[in-house]
Amino acid sequence: MTICIDDSILDITNSGPVLRASRCRACGHDSFPVSERCQRCMAEEIEPLAIVGRAQLWTWTSQDFCPKSPYLECDKKPFESYYVGYLNPLNTSVLIESRLLQPGQPVIGDLYELTTLNLLPENGAVVTTFAYRSIAI
Ligand SMILES: [Zn+2]
Repeated sequence: MTICIDDSILDITNSGPVLRASRCRACGHDSFPVSERCQRCMAEEIEPLAIVGRAQLWTWTSQDFCPKSPYLECDKKPFESYYVGYLNPLNTSVLIESRLLQPGQPVIGDLYELTTLNLLPENGAVVTTFAYRSIAI
């Protein structure tokens, strides 16, 4: 059984993952996760924005030690470093923090594709979240 980590931010469709965001009708500012009021101009005229596909890497860092609880994976196996970045999905004005999937070190400006990532088995179920995969893979 697979469980989505949070239905309010992520929709896993047959066509792939979709991030649930919002766009202000007054000024065009985008928000992720969905905001009921524009974070730039405070307008309440908000429309849903589905984020799919490619994004450009804005910046990144590496996670070189096991995060604190509730990330229990370190108790079960040796920790492996991974990359985390902020990405700007194409045709949006928002930055999204995400795990980065790629073989080498990230490069600012490179293109990534929205994908899913299965996390720790929890009560026999697999928890699925989103991540961005380098299109160079
Ligand atoms: Zn606005």
